[in-house]
Amino acid sequence: MPQQVRAHRFEGEVAIVTAATLGIGYAIAERLGLEGASVVICSRKKQNVEEAVASLKKAGVKNVVGIECQISNGDDQKRLVDFTLEKFGKITILVNNHGINPAFGDMMDLEDRTWDKLFETNVKSGWQLTKLVVPHMQKHGSGNILFNASIGGYVPPAMIATYAVTKTAVLGLTKALAKELSKYRIRVNAIAPGVIKTKMSKALWESGEQGLAEAQEISMGRLGVPEDCAGAVAFLVSEDAAYITGETIVIAGGVHARL
Ligand code: NAP
Repeated sequence: MPQQVRAHRFEGEVAIVTAATLGIGYAIAERLGLEGASVVICSRKKQNVEEAVASLKKAGVKNVVGIECQISNGDDQKRLVDFTLEKFGKITILVNNHGINPAFGDMMDLEDRTWDKLFETNVKSGWQLTKLVVPHMQKHGSGNILFNASIGGYVPPAMIATYAVTKTAVLGLTKALAKELSKYRIRVNAIAPGVIKTKMSKALWESGEQGLAEAQEISMGRLGVPEDCAGAVAFLVSEDAAYITGETIVIAGGVHARL
């Protein structure tokens, strides 16, 4: 359930949210949509896209459409951008929410192809999509790009260290793109969530949330929920954050991640 949404910061904006049929991406799409944005969501599976679009409409999002997109596939990326332009005529917000973690275990045991898949999906495809979208933001005169990194990008946890290193790269990508794109009035920021209760993190929390919250030293004593991320994303891509670029907000209930 979304927090009560009173603001309408995104009337007239068009947002693409990747990997948004579930979890954090879905909550971001819902929040931007409830604040007035026209939203395009995507994920790999047609049925998931159709169900998520129907559910977002039911939740009150007026303008929302979706398309299948395997995010690391270049043709699919192009189709996503073309589809957005065809439906809504412009792109003003890109939320690179996608990220996968197909492997648990020591880095030394990881196969080359798994390493490549992680970097292709978690790092390269966000850069590729940004390249496709930026010319349309330039045409519009401004834009906002948001990456979903992870607190693991600051402190790589055991067993998911390679995933975490891809997220360290996303933190760097955010800073580098922010510098390069400021001249076009495009801001680039990121979020770095801690453990958020979603399907992706289920293996971590299903055997006991309280124990995990204690082990992770979460000051607030609970795991995060997708809406905790959506509110921060809405702030970063809104005019309320007009003088913020190249930054990352940690959303982890007080877990100590950096100075
Ligand atoms: P989730 O609830 O499991 O949802 C994953 C979404 O991604 C689904 O909509 C899925 O739909 C889609 N998806 C998966 N692979 C895809 C691909 N190759 N191309 C396009 N769509 C794809 O995941 P989540 O926890 O919200 O994670 C979202 C982001 O948050 C990720 O970048 C993750 O690294 C980051 N994050 C999560 C946590 C956490 O604790 N949950 C913490 C830090 C960062 P289909 O199956 O239909 O493709």
